Amino acid sequence: MRKIIINRDFLIKKYSNENKSANDVAGMLGINEQTVRRRLVEFNIPRRRGGAGLKSSRKINIDCNQLFQAYSIEKKTVREVARIVKVSEDTIHQRLREFNIPRRKTGLQKGQKLSLFHRQQMSNSKKGSNNPQWQGGVSYEPYGIEFNKELKEQIRKRDGYACQILDCKKRENGRKFPVHHCDYNKKNNHPENLITLCHSCHSKTNMNRNYWQEYFKDNLRNISKTNLIQEFPDAKV
Ligand SMILES: [Zn+2]
Repeated sequence: MRKIIINRDFLIKKYSNENKSANDVAGMLGINEQTVRRRLVEFNIPRRRGGAGLKSSRKINIDCNQLFQAYSIEKKTVREVARIVKVSEDTIHQRLREFNIPRRKTGLQKGQKLSLFHRQQMSNSKKGSNNPQWQGGVSYEPYGIEFNKELKEQIRKRDGYACQILDCKKRENGRKFPVHHCDYNKKNNHPENLITLCHSCHSKTNMNRNYWQEYFKDNLRNISKTNLIQEFPDAKV
């Protein structure tokens, strides 16, 4: 007989954190409730007393994901989260405990580990548009250089409106060239981290990121240092 495999983190998330019933979880997985109950025992997941959890999850309009995102990733305070969700701070404290979300002030206790679920979430949320530093695509240098039209145009001008890949050197013709963040950090808008590429070379930099990062590290200074100083006399190069 085939043993039905249920991921433990999934079960904890649904049953313990989101207060779904064993029956609900069984429905999601298309298996019978009995199997879910057996796994709860096997995984040592404490059983809930009937119904109590459901009530509180209906009452409080925040789930584990949202709370983790707001509190652990976006670093909002308990008070801020409480205001957003329109519940008391006590409720948020209680939820943090229920969801096993590590408290910020004390940090992770020695030996306490984030669940796989939280670790994945932490790493997912650092990618792309979830990154708290992303700021909706508008980025700021630590000391305030904004990655805007003006800056991009300055970079293109500095680079002679030409692709800065040595064996490309294509020149802009009608359609503006993209300005690339050499270290892939959209927040780092220091002119030294920005470089003009043609569309075709720019799309190549989406792959083999390590290669390109090294490439620019080695070449950028030679490519545009003189122009950089002319164009950005105040930049610390
Ligand atoms: Zn090119």
